[in-house]
Amino acid sequence: MSGEFDLIARIRERAGGPHAVAGPDGVVLGIGDDAAVLSLPPDRQLVVAMDTLNTGVHFPHDTAPADIGWKALAVNLSDLAAMGATPAWCTLSLSLPAGDRVWIDAFLDGFLGLAEAHRTRLVGGDTTRGPLSVCVTVHGLVAPGAALRRDGAQAGDDIWISGTPGDAAGALAQWKAGAGGDAALRARLDRPTPRTALGIALIGVAHAAIDVSDGLLADLQHLAGASGLAARIDLGALPVSPALRAAFGDDVRYALQATGGDDYELCFAAPSAARAAVIDAGRVSATPVTRIGQLLTGSGVSAWRGDVPWTPPSRGWDHFGRGEAD
Ligand code: ADP
Ligand code: MG
Repeated sequence: MSGEFDLIARIRERAGGPHAVAGPDGVVLGIGDDAAVLSLPPDRQLVVAMDTLNTGVHFPHDTAPADIGWKALAVNLSDLAAMGATPAWCTLSLSLPAGDRVWIDAFLDGFLGLAEAHRTRLVGGDTTRGPLSVCVTVHGLVAPGAALRRDGAQAGDDIWISGTPGDAAGALAQWKAGAGGDAALRARLDRPTPRTALGIALIGVAHAAIDVSDGLLADLQHLAGASGLAARIDLGALPVSPALRAAFGDDVRYALQATGGDDYELCFAAPSAARAAVIDAGRVSATPVTRIGQLLTGSGVSAWRGDVPWTPPSRGWDHFGRGEAD
């Protein structure tokens, strides 16, 4: 058991304390004062996002502390990636049932490990006692006017997806069924990959982008709706991981891929003239990208199996609704 100040001291020790002068990362003053002081490059806009993870809602209660740390930052970096922003700084608000030094060290292994990989400095936060909850804000940088928004898609644009959607939802379905579950799928649930490099590479190539957190169709609806368009995807074109294909029959798999949450892949719209540029963006960022559909005039999203329309069993996770339909 450690007190709040011991925990903060430990976080500060591992994340780095204040600097005398702004480092190359723009941090003038980090953890340890009343607030952080950050130096913004003159030719950049600040992109800010916040996401909270609550135990039992956003991760299974048996999730390892290092995975909770990873995921709390990953879901936030995913939002920056969907804007095409380059991560710079983050803050961390932790509510913990007990001041457990072992738990915090494991948590920081996941959190700071991912932060380092994405060159994101932890510059402050808050530590309180209460039910386990982790709230993170991330701050990223983008050239003026260059951010990838949801509302820029045009009729005729291709719809693309990164990675292999459905893996996290497959892991959750297996966990709920109480079976052992596939380790490769569980890794996609516990340690989603923020598509930072892809988002940056898509600036000037994609018309619009969103990260898939609530389910592909639900989030695609947000993009299509913001752009005043309809969207159509071909289920047969969805990229599928070998683990997901092996674990589920086609009907369940399509439902997991089209409506399951927690993928943190990027779904984006780009003109058909930019197909080679999109493939190049995938190559330079070492991220698989697959074309899965098209934006059309009208409204609403639809999924098709060949020329047969498909009805999803759920439109994704709804925190305040009936929850997941399964
Ligand atoms: P105050 O009471 O002035 O808000 P705190 O005691 O809450 O200060 O925090 C002291 C310092 O430690 C601040 O710089 C704050 O940003 C940092 N801090 C507190 N909790 C965390 C945390 N969970 N992660 C990172 N920094 C933290
Ligand atoms: Mg405080």
